[in-house]
Amino acid sequence: MIPAPVIAAFHPPRRTLLGPGPSDVSPQVLAAQSKPIIGHLDPLFVGMMDEVKALLQYAFQTRNEMTLAISAPGSAGMEACFVNLVEPGEKVIVCRNGVFGDRMRQNVERCGGIAVTVDHAWGEPVDPAAVAAALAAHPDARFLAFVHAETSTGALSDAKALCALAKQHQCLSIVDAVTSLGGVELRVDEWGIDAIYSGSQKCLSCVPGLAPVSFSAAAVAKIKQRKTPVQSWFLDQSLVMSYWSGGAKRAYHHTAPVNALYALHEALRMLANEGLEQAWARHKAMHLLLRNGLDALGVQFVVAEPYRLPQLNTVYIPPGIDDVAVRSRLLQQYNLEIGAGLGDFAGKAWRIGLMGYGARQENIALCLHALQQELS
Ligand code: PLP
Repeated sequence: MIPAPVIAAFHPPRRTLLGPGPSDVSPQVLAAQSKPIIGHLDPLFVGMMDEVKALLQYAFQTRNEMTLAISAPGSAGMEACFVNLVEPGEKVIVCRNGVFGDRMRQNVERCGGIAVTVDHAWGEPVDPAAVAAALAAHPDARFLAFVHAETSTGALSDAKALCALAKQHQCLSIVDAVTSLGGVELRVDEWGIDAIYSGSQKCLSCVPGLAPVSFSAAAVAKIKQRKTPVQSWFLDQSLVMSYWSGGAKRAYHHTAPVNALYALHEALRMLANEGLEQAWARHKAMHLLLRNGLDALGVQFVVAEPYRLPQLNTVYIPPGIDDVAVRSRLLQQYNLEIGAGLGDFAGKAWRIGLMGYGARQENIALCLHALQQELS
């Protein structure tokens, strides 16, 4: 017998999470998660899932029937879009302006697709003119894939213009909205987005581990016409849908993360009660407050003003400042988490997230006070 380890219960501290996610989760959502578990095929739970679907349709601004939350993090949402849509030999125009665009390329190649990358400097938004040129140069492309809100750089791209270009070239659009959903304007039906995925832990301020996704009728038709079965059993949307849209006839596919879905239900209800447009405006207002304070401290933004994500503020670490030492003091002395730079920006930039429930004045005051102490 391996002896049982003697380990104390885990008591996490109460931190203020102003990094790239997970964001702070409101007590209301945490309380929802600790409600009694019921069976995942219990009629009451099934009814709650129908409500989650309606709330997700609101958050995405879509009437897409295939709208649901995958029982896994945002990366599984990304993978679900690619494995369901891209078949071997199909060409995908992939825009890269940070870490997550490159993950899209890797997904395309793992599906046996051909990725044609349109590269941008880090911190730049995706350039519609460069994408138009790539679409014109590759008339056989079937998809256009891009990240709406690049979390590694803090740049916002023009999803409406990019999806219009995809349509002009008979391509389906695949959009990463992990950091954008709930934080900036996003209109799936109006902008003609075909496949979109997000994560529960950013501007929805829910616990991590769920990936909202939505597929348009054209995307569903493409999935139905597949010549080869989807290589992932778990992420095969035609199988998952029988669980999500079966109503009373819901069939077992996998055991849903019941309590995490309670949390998502509550987080989405809070978003609906606030109103999407109000939530977008709140993120913008909080960003401006933070920006004014950072300007006063002489801290420079990485991204040019028109393309800045309000919910993810990427700033250069001032010269002579020890990145790791400052971030660990913020954590220890202020219980405050800000994000490190990622990829090309590691050691050069900080990422200050103002996401969902975290996008509040008192958090900005704490962050500015702590940074002022550290930088002066
Ligand atoms: N795409 C973007 C833009 C992200 O910011 C992230 C996570 O930060 C992901 C995808 C992957 O999501 P997850 O970490 O939930 O798997």
